[in-house]
Amino acid sequence: MLGWVCTYTPEEIFATLGLESCRLYGDDRGEYSKADLEYLPVNFCPLGRACLNEGMGKGNPSLTGVVLTASCHALVHLANAFRYAGERRGKEFFVHLLDLPRTFDGNDAAVRAFSSSLRALAGRLSSFYGVAWDEGAFSEALQAHQSVRRLLRELYQLRMGQPENFRAAGLLEIVRAAGRAKKDEFHPVLDGIVNTLKGNENGESRGGGSQAAALLAGLRRRGSPRGPRLLVAGSPLPFAYLDLIEELGGNIAGDDLCQGYRYCLPDVEEGPDPFISLARGYLERVPCPRMLAGRERFSHLLSLARESGARGIVYHALKFCDASLYEYPLFREYFAGAGIPVLYLETEYRDAGLEQARTRIQAYLELLGEQAGD
Ligand code: SF4
Repeated sequence: MLGWVCTYTPEEIFATLGLESCRLYGDDRGEYSKADLEYLPVNFCPLGRACLNEGMGKGNPSLTGVVLTASCHALVHLANAFRYAGERRGKEFFVHLLDLPRTFDGNDAAVRAFSSSLRALAGRLSSFYGVAWDEGAFSEALQAHQSVRRLLRELYQLRMGQPENFRAAGLLEIVRAAGRAKKDEFHPVLDGIVNTLKGNENGESRGGGSQAAALLAGLRRRGSPRGPRLLVAGSPLPFAYLDLIEELGGNIAGDDLCQGYRYCLPDVEEGPDPFISLARGYLERVPCPRMLAGRERFSHLLSLARESGARGIVYHALKFCDASLYEYPLFREYFAGAGIPVLYLETEYRDAGLEQARTRIQAYLELLGEQAGD
C-alpha cells in the first residue's frame, strides 16, 4: 500500500501499475504512534506531523511506501522523516519526492517538466515493486478516476444549491473516502449517494450499500441553517470547526481546500502520451496556494462566491504553514476590495481552541448579517 498526501499526485499512475494507494489525511491520530516526535521539530507543519503518524504508526502496518510532492519545505522534510522511519521498520520502504513546477500559464514547458517527473515516478515504482506499465490499464484507470471525480463535482453542485441541508464535514468525509478507495469499487457507492440526494425523499440510500448509507448519514446537517452562506479556503481544517460554523448558523456553500473541491478537479483528457495527459490535466485545474498564481485562484473563488451567494469566506491557516501565512494578507486585501469580509482562523490541525473560535465566528456571522441588513 502506497501513501500519498498532495493533490498534485496522480493516483492514476498507481492504479495503472496495479498498486494499491491511499491518501494520508493525518486523521485518527489517537490510534497511531507519536512517530512525529522522533523525527520532526515541534514547530513543524501539524498536517505533516499527523500524516507521518498516520503512515508510520501502528494503525497502518501495510504501508510499504509514500509518494510526496516537493510542494513546500514541510513536505520535503516529511519525505526525509518517512525515509528514516521506513528504515527503522527493517524492510525496504519506498519514498519518492515528486518534482512539481511552481508556475503554469498554459505553457508547454511546465507540462513537459511535470510529465518527466511523472515518468520518473512510474519508472521507480516499476522497478521497486516489479510491475509493468500497461497502456490498456492506464485507459481503464483514467476512466475510473474521471468518473469518480465527475460524481464528486456533481455532489458539490448539489450542495451549492442547498448548503442549508448539507453538513460540510460530511461532504469532506466523502472526498476523503474517495482518496482512500479503489475507484472502481467506490464508484457505485458514490453513485448511490448522488442518486439518493437527487431523489431526496427520505434520505435513505438508493444504492451503494452500507458505506453509502453511512456517508449519507454523515451529510445530515446538525446546526440551525439560519445564517449567511460562506466559503471555506486555505489549509485543510479540523472537521469540528466546520460543525461549529454550522452550529452557529453559517451555511458552507463551497470550498477551496486541497482535501476538498480541488481533489475533484483534475480533468484529464487521454492523449498519445499518458504522462503529458496527466501533467496537463493536473496543472490545468485551479491552482493551489503553493503555485505562483494567486490572482487566478482568487478570481476563481470570487466567481464561486458570486455563483453560490456566499457573503463571507473563512480562511484557515495551519500553524507554521508558510504558503497560507504568506498568502493571507493578499487574500484578505483582494476580497475586501470585492466587498467580501474574510474571517481568519489558525489551528494546529486539532480541535483545540474551538471555544475561543466560537466567539469570533459568532461575531463574524453577526457582522455579515448586519451588512446584509438581516
Ligand atoms: S495545499 Fe497544494 S501543495 Fe499543499 S498538499 Fe494541497 S495541493 Fe499539495
